[in-house]
Amino acid sequence: MRREASARLFARAARILPGGVNSPVRAFKAVEGPPLFIDRGEGAYLVDVDGNRFVDHVLSWGPLILGHAHPAVVSALHRASMRGTSYGAPCEAEVELATEIRERMPALEMIRMVNSGTEAVMSALRLARAFTGRSRIVKFEGCYHGHADPMLVRSGSGVATLALPDSPGVPEGSVADTLLARFNDASSVEDLFDEHPDGIAAVIVEPVAGNMGLVLPHADFLPRLRALTERHGALLVFDEVMTGFRVGAGGAQGRYGVRPDLTTLGKVIGGGLPVGALGGRADIMEMLAPSGPVYQAGTLSGNPLAMEAGLATLRKLALPGTWARLETQGRRTAEILRAEADAAAVAMQIVNVGSMFGLFFAEAEVCDWTAAAACDRAMFSRFFRGMLENGVYLAPSPFEAGFVSTAHGDAELERLADAARAALGTARRVSRTD
Ligand code: PLP
Repeated sequence: MRREASARLFARAARILPGGVNSPVRAFKAVEGPPLFIDRGEGAYLVDVDGNRFVDHVLSWGPLILGHAHPAVVSALHRASMRGTSYGAPCEAEVELATEIRERMPALEMIRMVNSGTEAVMSALRLARAFTGRSRIVKFEGCYHGHADPMLVRSGSGVATLALPDSPGVPEGSVADTLLARFNDASSVEDLFDEHPDGIAAVIVEPVAGNMGLVLPHADFLPRLRALTERHGALLVFDEVMTGFRVGAGGAQGRYGVRPDLTTLGKVIGGGLPVGALGGRADIMEMLAPSGPVYQAGTLSGNPLAMEAGLATLRKLALPGTWARLETQGRRTAEILRAEADAAAVAMQIVNVGSMFGLFFAEAEVCDWTAAAACDRAMFSRFFRGMLENGVYLAPSPFEAGFVSTAHGDAELERLADAARAALGTARRVSRTD
């Protein structure tokens, strides 16, 4: 595979962008080698600047559920941009997108649009603290909620990839009110409520964890979080930035039938443009300025291009049969990986929900961060490189989820199977000679 043009651009980038990238996981540090510089995306494929073509299972880290450059999104953007790219004043598309979201997630009685998932979480936590008059927040080890200071404690995603348990520059004071619990262990949350009976404002959770690899909630985990938060007067915040409209037509809250007080969204609802949103109970949301005293604002919030891309995406997803096709594609992707791992006699745990999948090189099911962190990272790195060599682009880290889109079909499944067969064969041979 030719990598010269990417390598040249990376060398140039490294002289002007820290680490050569604008977001850490893109740098391929966990898997070695320079990152690919992308020339274009076409449906289920990415084409890099050397002309290599890959089946894309990253899909911009989740947003591109219709694949790259879907005609409905491109033409919505074209139409919208002809009318101006930003107004800094209200427009109809903001109301339309909020309405479409609420139809799919009725728990979001009111919604505020922002520009990223990080911003959505930051604002949701401020709101939860203001509403409850309490300051402590419970988060789970291995869950990632963006890079706002109070959430940079035992985060997954890039923080885990780079082995940074937290970050320099985050003052102790700003994480002093962050309490840590174990994913899939509601009793660890109960213990925290016992220790801080009237101090916890909110429990924030990725209802399906997608930033320590993909980890599904056990059947009683989310219902118990709901019951515990209710009993102790704290808010339950579902961070559905990744799972929102990825694990089902109503997000994780629809799939698992648990109604949170607040929800954060991003990724899919912006159709590939920068967007985030927070929403939830009207009595809480009404505390946001200008209805209430909790300050939150944004120059580009509700940007018309982002709103139109999101609307086009959600409307396409609502067409009959679309969800069933995505579910099938996700399930078959997992089945293929499982079959190839079995054939190669490699211990690999494959997880799938909706249009997301995940894999761990581990002997037993992975239910929390301790187990995820213990997976065989060197094996993942070899597998990743093998997949790339064979034309499949996975997230360059063992602690990320994989995605499929409506543009993925049988041809991409075949390429996945061929690539996995080759990559697992090589990865296993190397591990035996290590
Ligand atoms: N929350 C979750 C669950 C995420 O997966 C992410 C990003 O991957 C974020 C928050 C942060 O979103 P953003 O990168 O848009 O700031």
